[in-house]
Amino acid sequence: MATYSYVIIGAGMSAAAAVQGIRDHDQAGEILIVGQEVFPPYKRPPLSKGLWREERIEDLWMSNDVQDSHLHLHLGDPVDEIQPDEHRIRTLGGLSWGYEKLLLATGGHARRLAGPPDRAFYPGTLSEHIRLWAQLRDKARKILVVGGGFIGSEMAAALTEKGHQVTWVISEEEPFAQWWPAILRDRVAQTYRDHGVDIRSGIRVEGIEHTKDGVAARTSNDLRLSADLAVVGIGWVPNDDLARSAGLCDEGPGIPVDEFGQTSQPNIFACGDVAFAPNAEHGRMHEDHALSQGRCVGATMAGTQVAYTDLPFFYSDLFSWGYEAVGDISTRHQIVEDWVNPGEEGVLYYLDGTRLVGVLNWNVWEGVAMARSLLERREPVTPEALRGKIRNPGSSA
Ligand SMILES: Cc1cc2nc3c(=O)[nH]c(=O)nc-3n(C[C@H](O)[C@H](O)[C@H](O)COP(=O)(O)OP(=O)(O)OC[C@H]3O[C@@H](n4cnc5c(N)ncnc54)[C@H](O)[C@@H]3O)c2cc1C
Repeated sequence: MATYSYVIIGAGMSAAAAVQGIRDHDQAGEILIVGQEVFPPYKRPPLSKGLWREERIEDLWMSNDVQDSHLHLHLGDPVDEIQPDEHRIRTLGGLSWGYEKLLLATGGHARRLAGPPDRAFYPGTLSEHIRLWAQLRDKARKILVVGGGFIGSEMAAALTEKGHQVTWVISEEEPFAQWWPAILRDRVAQTYRDHGVDIRSGIRVEGIEHTKDGVAARTSNDLRLSADLAVVGIGWVPNDDLARSAGLCDEGPGIPVDEFGQTSQPNIFACGDVAFAPNAEHGRMHEDHALSQGRCVGATMAGTQVAYTDLPFFYSDLFSWGYEAVGDISTRHQIVEDWVNPGEEGVLYYLDGTRLVGVLNWNVWEGVAMARSLLERREPVTPEALRGKIRNPGSSA
């Protein structure tokens, strides 16, 4: 049985970042990445946006150095057991390797609805994207998009822009009610409607059934909504079963880690969507978290302790808009709206009493560093003191 200096379970975004972190400090250590998917690490966010527009599959690959002869990939074969006492992992296909340092970068998976999967699609992997793409390529379809979160909102926008007829079913009373003030959510919801999206709000989908012609959603209020197929984005669940069996988890979801990505076991680390770091309550399960934490944890594994303490930011794109946010952007907080152009360009500040807890930059770029700095000050703030703090470069307002 071969033993590697570093074994990484999961060939995703945080794994690729961890390799960079290791290589920043150790150019020759033998690294093995073991992945469940058949693909090498790729960027996942374009699956619900860029790939439906101008991006191509060739643009997705994360560029770990192909010349790195000390980096080995074993793909399409998930790890099904970690034996921490023996410093060994085993795959479903029956292969075993030893490790000096082990990193769990197993990400998460889409929460599923009851019902057969064939005509229900769960954006999350490139294989699933290809399966959906194959259904849609040749003609306009009637599609049920289920879920009012990031993935549901992005898929409803992307599919309607591609000419499909979208019915968007969300459990919230109106789209984006959980994040944004009325001026913004009305503006964005109207744009969905202008693109022909039929928004059905306040409806919980219980399951997807096959019908003669396609699918029907069973809903909590006994509606039956039919379409050719369904695209479901109702939550993302950390892939922590493996870690749980190895005794690395508490009762809650995910793997608890410290600021170095260290788990409760020596020489075992975790990063990305599956890892719960102390600073990342609100940006976990997003790209910046995966990349920043992955790189820090890789460096630490290679012997140079680098703490991951940044507040992660997250972003999304809808139609012609884009936004970046740091912290807790929930409408249960007071929202201070600082618009340059209402609904088009501006910054939202989320306050818990006099404490700033979240910032959302709407079509405002290069404002993440300032948002972090304002959040990290942790001193009482007033709405007046916040206005104008973050602006697009060159904006005169
Ligand atoms: C459709 C979609 C859109 C997104 N859009 C955005 C966005 O706009 N902005 C943003 O900030 N973030 C976005 N994200 C989130 C971002 O992509 C993730 O936070 C990031 O990919 C997490 O990286 P990771 O390495 O933890 O997990 P992943 O990139 O998911 O990689 C984990 C890998 O581990 C593999 N694995 C799991 N179990 C095992 C096992 N037992 N053995 C071997 N391999 C295993 C999985 O198959 C997977 O390939 C999006 C995610 C999705 C799915």
